[in-house]
Amino acid sequence: MDSSATLTTSKIIVAIDGYSSCGKSTLAKQIAKEKGYIYVDTGAMYRAIALYSIRNKIISDAHFDEQKLIESLPEIKVSFSYNPTLNASETYLDGENIEKEIRGIAVSNQVSKVAQIKEVRAKLVEVQRELGKAKGLVMDGRDIGSVVFPNAELKIFMTADHNVRAQRRFDELQAKGDNIPFEDVLENITKRDNDDTSRSENPLIQAEDAIVIDNSEITQDEQLKIALDYVNEKLTVA
Ligand code: C5P
Repeated sequence: MDSSATLTTSKIIVAIDGYSSCGKSTLAKQIAKEKGYIYVDTGAMYRAIALYSIRNKIISDAHFDEQKLIESLPEIKVSFSYNPTLNASETYLDGENIEKEIRGIAVSNQVSKVAQIKEVRAKLVEVQRELGKAKGLVMDGRDIGSVVFPNAELKIFMTADHNVRAQRRFDELQAKGDNIPFEDVLENITKRDNDDTSRSENPLIQAEDAIVIDNSEITQDEQLKIALDYVNEKLTVA
C-alpha cells in the first residue's frame, strides 16, 4: 500500500470562539479559504435577529419584549448568500441584504441581549449543527466549541487586550465612514464581553480542549500560520 495512505483527506470542523472584536472572523475566513472549507459567521445570525427586533420595536435601549421575540421566531428568515465580487458570504433577512446594517453600533448595542434568550439560541444552534453535518467547515462565535460542536476536531479560543480590540474595531468603523467615538466602541466591547461571559444560556467559555491564540501582539499572517499548523496536524491524524 502507498505510504501516503496514512494521510487522509477527510474534512474536519474548526470551531473558533472568543471575545468580541478579536479577529475571529478574519482568521476563520482565511482558514476556510486555504482549506476550501465553508465559513459560517454565527454572530451574523444573532445580529440579524437583533436587527429584526429593533425594526419591529421589540427591543430598544429602554425596553425588551422577550415574549414577542420568542413568538416571532418562526417568522424570522435568516439566510446567507455568497457574493463572488467580495469573495464573501453576506447575510439576508427575509431576502434583504442586511450585511452593512448588522455591523453598525445600533445592532451591536442590542445583540447580546437578544443572544441571552434560550429560544433564540436553540433555533440558531439547530441551524448551525445542520450546516456542520458534512464537515469541511470553519464556524466562529461564542459557544461553538462548547455547545454547537463539542466534538469539533479543532477548537480555537481567541483573545486580545481589550484596548487593542477596541482600536481595531474603531479603525474598521472609521474606514467605513462610521464616526463613532473611541470610548463608545470600547464601552460596547466591554459590555458585550460581560454579557456574553455572564449569561446563563451557553455563556462564552473556553472549551477545555481549545488551543488559545492571543493576538494582541502578533500579525494576521503569524496568527494564520499558527492556526494552519494545528489544522494540518489534525488533518493528518483525523
Ligand atoms: O461575533 P459577533 O461579535 O458578530 O457576535 C455578535 C454577538 O452575538 C455577540 O456579542 C454575542 O452576544 C452573540 N453571539 C453569541 N453566540 C454566538 C455568536 C454570537 O451569543 N455563537
